[in-house]
Amino acid sequence: MTMSTADKARLDEFWQHCLKHQFFNIGYPENADFDYAPLHRFLRFSINNCGDWAAPSNYVLNSFDFEREVMTYFSDLFGIRHEDSWGYVTNGGTEGNMFGCYLARELFPGGTLYYSKDTHYSVAKIVKLLRIRCRAVDSLANGEIDYDDLMAKIAADQERHPIIFANIGTTLRGAVDDIALIQQRLAQAGIAREDYYLHADAALSGMILPFVDRPQPFSFADGIDSICVSGHKMIGSPIPCGIVVAKREAVERISVEVDYISASDKTISGSRNGHTPLMMWAALRSHSPAQWRRRVQHCLGIAQHAVERMRAAGIDAWRHDNSITVVFPCPSARIAKKYCLATSGDTAHLITTPHHQDTRQVDALIDEIIAEAQPAAWRALRQDNPAHDLQVPTQVREFASRFDVI
Ligand SMILES: *Cc1c(COP(=O)(O)O)cnc(C)c1O
Repeated sequence: MTMSTADKARLDEFWQHCLKHQFFNIGYPENADFDYAPLHRFLRFSINNCGDWAAPSNYVLNSFDFEREVMTYFSDLFGIRHEDSWGYVTNGGTEGNMFGCYLARELFPGGTLYYSKDTHYSVAKIVKLLRIRCRAVDSLANGEIDYDDLMAKIAADQERHPIIFANIGTTLRGAVDDIALIQQRLAQAGIAREDYYLHADAALSGMILPFVDRPQPFSFADGIDSICVSGHKMIGSPIPCGIVVAKREAVERISVEVDYISASDKTISGSRNGHTPLMMWAALRSHSPAQWRRRVQHCLGIAQHAVERMRAAGIDAWRHDNSITVVFPCPSARIAKKYCLATSGDTAHLITTPHHQDTRQVDALIDEIIAEAQPAAWRALRQDNPAHDLQVPTQVREFASRFDVI
């Protein structure tokens, strides 16, 4: 590739930009702690996973074998036998959600989709593209779906085949809709199990809940029909990606044989990324389940530290069980901008992904929030101990040393 000096300089400049901001992220769930160096050499190949990884393809440069192993891993993780499931490596959580909704609509063509108002913005686009009738259900203050409103809307619609779009970790508040309760309420309303569809949007928490001691219900064993996870969030990836897992029988309903590629077509896009399955494979193979547990514990520990520090300073911060999303009142626009925080109305959050190796970045943000919320108290504290905001408190240091695993 020949490139002008000016263009090379532009790339150098962008390289510096990327280096500088590599670990900037505290307001979004993208984990920057990954190393795919063993895969760099594959960038010279035009790998394409067009079609179904489970079937032979004419296109020889595919990474199907790796995709199969990724999907075996996730069917295990989500409590379904690999033979009873089918899924693939997607372009991200949104495509996984769309795939789940597509399967649901094919099963119940006239069914109404119910989603809470805290659901990710992608659902609105999905129902429009798929022309699925839908109803936004109220959320509770903690971000979970309002179960009474859900049942009231299903009853008012006289919907016999509801499609439930459940959040396993909402984007803003990390809330997990109680899918056990939802199923109980549906049963009470006389809607049999085979008459509804339950999709789980686990974009972030799908890689957290399997690794904690007391997870909220989230798996096929708990009653879901499909689930999606983003690959570039908790797992970490330089290219957005994700996975979706569904029941095999539901997928077979949408499968089409295509002569041109000599394969069966079940996926939303035609040509598919062949590099991201390699990345997912490498990430999963290079951390044992025990290491994932430690990684998740580490993130949960930093999130808890953030909650406790803010609460001690009188700031109403909180998080859900098993959530690395810390919710707090929206700080000033200056702080939000400086730390690239995602805000919604009067609510902001920070997310403690694995690239937060210690509490430094979180503490820097919290220091500023506290200073802004209580300038007088902050000044007094600093007069007592001018170096306060430069010191790592003892309990934090102890805490960090317990988790020096990544
Ligand atoms: C991020 C997110 C999505 C969308 O995932 P992408 O990978 O960005 O497409 C969907 N749902 C939830 C809850 C999310 O947090």
